[in-house]
Amino acid sequence: MPRFERALVWFRRDLRDHDHAALAAALQDARAVYCAFVFDRAILDALAERADRRVEFIMAALVELHDALVARGGGLIVRHGFATEKIPALARELGVDAVFVNRDYEPDAKRRDAQVAAALQESGIGFHPSKDQAIFDGDEVLTRAGTPFSVFTPYKNAWLAALQPADLAPHVTESDGGALAPAPACSSLPTMAGIGFACTNLAELPIETGMSGARAMFARFLERIDRYGETRDHPAKKGSASNLSMHLRFGTISVRTVAREAHARMLEGDAEAAGAATWLSELIWRDFYFMILDRHPRVVTQAFKPEYDAIAFPSDPARFAAWCEGRTGYPLIDAAQRHLNATGMMHNRLRMVSASFLVKDLHVDWRKGERYFAARLNDYDLSANNGGWQWAASTGCDAQPWFRIFNPVTQSERFDSDGAFIRAHLPELLRVPARCIHAPWKMTPPEQLEYGVVIGADYPAPLVDHDAARKTTLALYDLGNRRGGTDPH
Ligand code: FAD
Repeated sequence: MPRFERALVWFRRDLRDHDHAALAAALQDARAVYCAFVFDRAILDALAERADRRVEFIMAALVELHDALVARGGGLIVRHGFATEKIPALARELGVDAVFVNRDYEPDAKRRDAQVAAALQESGIGFHPSKDQAIFDGDEVLTRAGTPFSVFTPYKNAWLAALQPADLAPHVTESDGGALAPAPACSSLPTMAGIGFACTNLAELPIETGMSGARAMFARFLERIDRYGETRDHPAKKGSASNLSMHLRFGTISVRTVAREAHARMLEGDAEAAGAATWLSELIWRDFYFMILDRHPRVVTQAFKPEYDAIAFPSDPARFAAWCEGRTGYPLIDAAQRHLNATGMMHNRLRMVSASFLVKDLHVDWRKGERYFAARLNDYDLSANNGGWQWAASTGCDAQPWFRIFNPVTQSERFDSDGAFIRAHLPELLRVPARCIHAPWKMTPPEQLEYGVVIGADYPAPLVDHDAARKTTLALYDLGNRRGGTDPH
């Protein structure tokens, strides 16, 4: 017997109608289930630009979600305003007994949810969070001493040991309990202009939108998951990774769905199954960083290892600007940054190298780079971004050892050996051959003329000398005993 007459499911970063913990719980517990999304001004007003691919991605996902809900007799109510006001008001308007959500681990989201829960409580309306965006959260994966992990490999081992089929099973939303209730007649989806945003180049990117886009992209990735281990580090290789991060960020695909497939492939145990095992590891990193953020919200502004906050990064604004704009004179870094600026995308290897370069070659505080990525990345997720930056800056829980400093030239030679990625994003280096493209300042003046690029005029000379910068970093970081970490990626 359902506990409630009416319930409301508040969608946030879970924009799908299937394998959805909150929706499944609401349909189990209530006779009639309304669905809503709020374009939250607390988030939108803080965005740097009024054209943002993430907003457009959300809009496309909402259109598809609304249609899917309508086909099942329901619909999506979309509001624009402050969620802390809109959700309690809507819940009262609809006369619901309970609001169901999927749990969010970000400090601001936790504060928002606490505020909404308190406002609902004043009207006698319950607030019911479920676990959905992580496979494990809370106290589910702990050390033997009962404390949260701070090192990835033992966390991953414990995660895998704890895993039961039920953890990957879908939360069925085709319930024979309650039914979806249609959105009130007056509600219609807003337009981008209606919420004050312009369209972007999202449609030109290799990111299909909505649940259907996620499904199609994942199906194609499954065909190449076996090769993931070998290809994933090579940004120029088409399809070297899944490119699903934006979908996982906004929940247009369920993490259980993708983890279930990867886990099943891994268990087949043949030599090629290693690709799926490596990919599953990346999803475990995702859970790991959710857990770190949930348990240690201070990492948003502080080093996980507090002693690293003593480092006085010079953070020269001119150097930071050159990095942001992709004019450091190091082609791999510049190509990565310009690709980011043009598309909101950046390959994982390049995130690691570019982040390391900003901190350990240009000596800019990791927090500045973290905020820059936050503004630009389509898949920006506070937990993974903060974790990635603290890893690169060696300030994090299980980070790159502080004395390990990526060489931007050898990284370029290893992971973009023929220079294809560089040429795709730095047209001024189009004619430079592979043997010169990783360190073009070493070209002789006749070579520069021959290949159509004068260093210092058409393409910048290197902003810093890597070897000298490395020494400065070692001096900056040498504040006492430091422990090593795991190479996650
Ligand atoms: P795949 O290689 O196919 O991996 C599958 C999924 O696993 C990803 O979609 C993602 O959800 C998850 N994942 C992969 N690597 C990591 C990781 N290291 N930590 C946590 N989750 C991971 N990822 C984000 O989703 N949002 C971010 O804002 C973000 N910022 C980063 C910043 C830095 C400095 C670094 C080094 C990494 C960052 N990552 C971030 C992790 C990683 O780079 C991206 O998840 C990955 O590049 C997305 O591409 P993909 O979907 O093809 O990944």
